[in-house]
Amino acid sequence: MKISVIGTGYLGATHAVCMAELGFDVVGVDVDQSKVLRLQRGEVPFFEPGLEPLLRKHVENGRLTFSSDLQAAAGWADVHFVCVGTPQRTNALSADTSYVEQAVDGLAPHLAPGALVVGKSTVPVGTAARLRERLRAQVAPRTHADLVWNPEFLREGHALHDTLHPDRIVVGTEGDVGVATLREVYAGALESGTPFLVTGLETAELVKVAANAFLATKISFINAMSEVCEATGGDVVALAEALGHDERIGSRFLGAGLGFGGGCLPKDIRAFQARCIELGLNRSVAFLAEVDEVNQRRRARTVALAHEMLGGRVKDRRIVVLGAAFKPDSDDVRDSPALDVADQLYMRGGDVVVHDPQATEPARRRSPDLVYVDSLAEAYAGADLLLLLTEWSEFRVLDPAVVGSRVRQRKIVDGRNVLPVPEWERAGWQLRALGRGA
Ligand code: NAD
Repeated sequence: MKISVIGTGYLGATHAVCMAELGFDVVGVDVDQSKVLRLQRGEVPFFEPGLEPLLRKHVENGRLTFSSDLQAAAGWADVHFVCVGTPQRTNALSADTSYVEQAVDGLAPHLAPGALVVGKSTVPVGTAARLRERLRAQVAPRTHADLVWNPEFLREGHALHDTLHPDRIVVGTEGDVGVATLREVYAGALESGTPFLVTGLETAELVKVAANAFLATKISFINAMSEVCEATGGDVVALAEALGHDERIGSRFLGAGLGFGGGCLPKDIRAFQARCIELGLNRSVAFLAEVDEVNQRRRARTVALAHEMLGGRVKDRRIVVLGAAFKPDSDDVRDSPALDVADQLYMRGGDVVVHDPQATEPARRRSPDLVYVDSLAEAYAGADLLLLLTEWSEFRVLDPAVVGSRVRQRKIVDGRNVLPVPEWERAGWQLRALGRGA
């Protein structure tokens, strides 16, 4: 079986490499020429642990190629995974589905007989049925090509593991179209017991957005509790630990802090609201507006805390932001809470210096006015305030005595509740953390 992957960003590049690792011949197709050239050279254009060696292996053994020729890929492969972006529209909550439409339009007229188009991008409910009709209207006569939806649940930072060992495989289809083909593609995971759920197109689309809505809600729930703790003297870390022991609640996604960001959760909960409003279901997911607001308020609270710790004056103070990526083990800065806080402090006149182990270049492209330094020690030298905003493991294990000997003022905001507070306080630091009071 030959496979094409359309769109080779965080999702598509990973999927293409993993399909090659499973033994298929794969072509990755992208409209971004520079991305294609880098992938052809065996370079991953973003940071994802473990991905580059596997990419190199399969580029070198010839199983994996990259191209910008969608028409050629359409005629060559049997299965086409559509992994293009569905970003939030400018000045609207809704998702821009024009890239998935372009991908389907580009593939349809050139598909080989019996080809299967498999959507993986996250789309508003109803998109897949519309795309299936669009595809059927454009395929050559008697081609019998069709479209199904197979949402993706991978986590950046764990993308290889999640693709090779998914916790479930969901296939949205009509009847059993494409089911046997996808069972063949995912045979390895199925043999090791991964649940394989066949649903209608709409349910498959909804599984993805509902999962992200649930996770975002859980994060904002504990962050709302942070606000209550801050006002009442409670400690959100102790609260979350106690809640997490309840099996019905569980401790995962209950880490209070600066909240969520990235290329998925924020835009997915907004697109879900927009879609429900279109459907006249204004009340059904109205709570997601509050989930989003709680999340945004954590950023404002972190900026306010920085002000407070600097005695109300941010201007010309050396403020060191540790982290720019939206989460550790990724260089993704899309809607990054850390970078947002850094920008806001810079706009208030702060002398803001950012250090991130992997995300400097993407962050510089997004926020070019900030100062970025490659070395952690160089970053904190002379600092008036440190803000730990992305919980990279190297920040968790910083030695408060060593760091303390280099800064101007021993003041730190732990925006992710990951530092051992007593240790830092013993070393003479004034430490403030979200949801934990003074
Ligand atoms: P991305 O922006 O990193 O990648 C999208 C790629 O598609 C880009 O390289 C772009 O150049 C390419 N592209 C756009 N139009 C194209 C076209 N017509 N033909 C070929 N290539 C085209 O985005 P991403 O993070 O990989 O996300 C892609 C989709 O997957 C989104 O719908 C997202 O919500 C979903 N998703 C992402 C993740 C994740 O962790 N990043 C996880 C699950 C689902």
